[in-house]
Amino acid sequence: MFHTQTLELPTTKKQEMIDITKRVRAVVSASNVQNGLCSVFCGHTTGAITINENTDPDVQTDILNALERAVPHNEKYYKHEEGNAHAHAKAAVIGFSETVPVQGGKLMLGTWQAIFFCEFDGPRNRKVTVTVMG
Ligand code: ZN
Repeated sequence: MFHTQTLELPTTKKQEMIDITKRVRAVVSASNVQNGLCSVFCGHTTGAITINENTDPDVQTDILNALERAVPHNEKYYKHEEGNAHAHAKAAVIGFSETVPVQGGKLMLGTWQAIFFCEFDGPRNRKVTVTVMG
């Protein structure tokens, strides 16, 4: 079985992490796949997909701040003339997809794990493709 769905995701801030776990779970339910894999992919160059904690929102702030220290906005460091080189680099560090096992029709995320879309150059209208294979 193979089921795919594209999530429309308008972002509202320059940089943010948006918890999309509920929307991914809904796609897994609709797929009727009991045992398989769920791929979450974004086809953007300044946005990314990651898995991390959603209970304490400070974790998201800390991740964004840590990335900012590693890859500062300051344009003098970069050649890319669009002015968003930091966003491209942050997205490259985080990556553009995650794959989560599906067992018994459920995503096998850990207790504290959630799936996030990371916006590094918003606000924009983003798209995330969820593919469930089983
Ligand atoms: Zn660019």
